[in-house]
Amino acid sequence: MMEPEDAAARRAVKPVICYPVDTLPVPDMAALTRARATLTKVDEVLVPARDARCFSVPAGHFFRIRSVEGPQVGDLNLWAENDLTERFYSGKTRALHGTHITTGQRMWSSFPHLRPMATITHDTLEWYGKDAFGGSVHDVIGTRCDPYTHNLLAGGQYHQCCHSNLVRALAAHLDVPPLQAEPHVHDVLNVFMCTGFTQDTGQYFMKASPVRPGDYLEFFAEIDLLGALSACPGGDCSSEHSSDAAACHPLLVEIFAADPAVLEGINLAPRNHYDRSHGT
Ligand SMILES: [Zn+2]
Repeated sequence: MMEPEDAAARRAVKPVICYPVDTLPVPDMAALTRARATLTKVDEVLVPARDARCFSVPAGHFFRIRSVEGPQVGDLNLWAENDLTERFYSGKTRALHGTHITTGQRMWSSFPHLRPMATITHDTLEWYGKDAFGGSVHDVIGTRCDPYTHNLLAGGQYHQCCHSNLVRALAAHLDVPPLQAEPHVHDVLNVFMCTGFTQDTGQYFMKASPVRPGDYLEFFAEIDLLGALSACPGGDCSSEHSSDAAACHPLLVEIFAADPAVLEGINLAPRNHYDRSHGT
């Protein structure tokens, strides 16, 4: 195809950041750091390999997703505990914070709420940064492994994809049939997964997660949360998912309460202030 005469000039235009974040409300990390020093564990949920579990975290509590036994990737869904229509918005979180998130960044909720649901307060894999392939950890690019894409690409019926694991866990938690729970399952935060885009084709890639037992990702709950975590059938996601071939391990979710006196100065997430008249 012929290029226009000014093709080079058009390509040379410098990009601008879509959403500069200098006006984004920032978490009070100093206060959260003080609160972290007072944590008491109040509950824990072990997520079995190739399965998922739900857990609740009251606003003002913290939770950790911890690697135990061996390298393992987790697919995380979050909802407002009392309104499942408010749920984690992976796409907008990506637009605001970039492809991977770490300490000080937040998981934002769907419209019309668009407020922080959880703030990352500690990440033992923060040292990883970006590798020579452009890979990094904890992405908000991928959607979750699912039996529909698997069927499309490879045929067959595989039932332990993260999507189905999350459906079963939420159905059990709500005590509803799986088909009633399924529409609530949404694009995830890929906890511990190491991913990026290839330089040449721009394709989504994964590689063995650098996570090791003892590593954890820690969050502060900005609102009352219902979470669901799937221990991906891809294990450390070094080769494939959507099969039983990979070595898989459980993941541990730990819930912590902070000293209420320390939390007093911390403002929890307010509602979004858009008036919702949409120009009418
Ligand atoms: Zn998965």
